[in-house]
Amino acid sequence: MPKNLSKIAKAKKIKYFLISFVDLFGVLRSKLVPAQAIGDMQKDGAGFAGFATWLDMTPADSDMFGVPDPDSLIQLPWNKEIGWLASDLYMDGKPVKASPRIMLKEQIKKMSQKKLQMKSGVECEYFLISEDGHSLADKRDIQSKPCYDQSALMRRYDLIKEICDCMLEIGWKPYQNDHEDANGQFEMNWDYSDSLITADRHVFFKFMVKSLAEKHGLRATFMPKPFSNLTGNGCHAHVSVWNGKTNKFLDNKDQLGLSKLAYNFLGGIMNNTQALSAFFNPTINSYRRINAPPTKSGATWSPSSISYTGNNRTHMIRIPDKGRFELRLMDGSANPYLLQAGIIAAGLEGINKKLNPGKPLYCNMYEDYKKYPNLKKLPNDINQAIIMLKNSKALSKAFGADVIKSYIKLKSSEIKNFKLKNNFNKRKPVSQWEKDNTLDC
Ligand SMILES: [Mg+2]
Repeated sequence: MPKNLSKIAKAKKIKYFLISFVDLFGVLRSKLVPAQAIGDMQKDGAGFAGFATWLDMTPADSDMFGVPDPDSLIQLPWNKEIGWLASDLYMDGKPVKASPRIMLKEQIKKMSQKKLQMKSGVECEYFLISEDGHSLADKRDIQSKPCYDQSALMRRYDLIKEICDCMLEIGWKPYQNDHEDANGQFEMNWDYSDSLITADRHVFFKFMVKSLAEKHGLRATFMPKPFSNLTGNGCHAHVSVWNGKTNKFLDNKDQLGLSKLAYNFLGGIMNNTQALSAFFNPTINSYRRINAPPTKSGATWSPSSISYTGNNRTHMIRIPDKGRFELRLMDGSANPYLLQAGIIAAGLEGINKKLNPGKPLYCNMYEDYKKYPNLKKLPNDINQAIIMLKNSKALSKAFGADVIKSYIKLKSSEIKNFKLKNNFNKRKPVSQWEKDNTLDC
């Protein structure tokens, strides 16, 4: 029996529900529904006009319905009257294939057919900035190496503590908060979980950080590179694959502690990352972060080439510990569902075709990249990423050609809009267009 939201509303004194979904550009959209109407909405869903969002639809299409997933319910710790729900989109009784949560669920289904589940954790970096987005909120945060700066962290104690308290209250098991490598940049970590749960939490985390920052008179941004001289906002993922309670990535006899299945999965990731950049680094601004010139702190902490290694942050994939790897490619604008879906799709191709990731490289990739001229490079701008996605047979097969076509169509129209008045040049300051369109990503 699914949970009865009407009963839950009464028991928890929830007055309103946010029935939400995320479109292909990662925009979180909702209807605010009074508790007395939630019974019908749980059955039939909340109605939306698809064309009004970033989904590939026309104004003539029928309404789509967001059917809430009761397992995703979170009672807002800072406003207990409201319950937040992730929903799945349906149109004419069928799931909307080119919608991110459905795309992830499809990949999870394929994986479960092999009796496998992916678990992951995400590390969402963000900046605290001024209202207009032109400067950092903390004028004193100016150290050239500001990472882990205790004073700058503690000047934001009230906000960081409130966010962390919320995560404790809703049972996410947060375990650390810090000032990151750029001035004005922070990261907060909570426990890993099944990929769908992590994706829903990732969506909620961004909403929570932005909402609570506003409450404290600040603005939070997950934009990949709001300031061209500072380290960008990454969104690294730690990945493992399980069968029930057994971590199928773990092999204690292997030098890096990974199983054959894990290496095949890695092979799939490395084989598909150029095309997956269109999902993982989906905005024009994303390409100021990868293949980027050095920052004020001395390193970009983001990859340029496709390589893997042990515990070394200069490569795209790091194996920090036995039984998991960290993919460091994604940025703060990545769609939380497509981030997880892309990893599963690529990993499954690796498992199915027994792909070999090659040997790990042990070097400082930021300095030694010239010694490895044959390594595949990451795309240099969103155009290249879209072309690689267009040419990827594996991703077309994994998601369906129509779904990929929809994504490319919407992205291409966005790029066209940017090009009306701009040229992308990562050595020039961040354009107003990028700020207008990405600060709230
Ligand atoms: Mg970090």
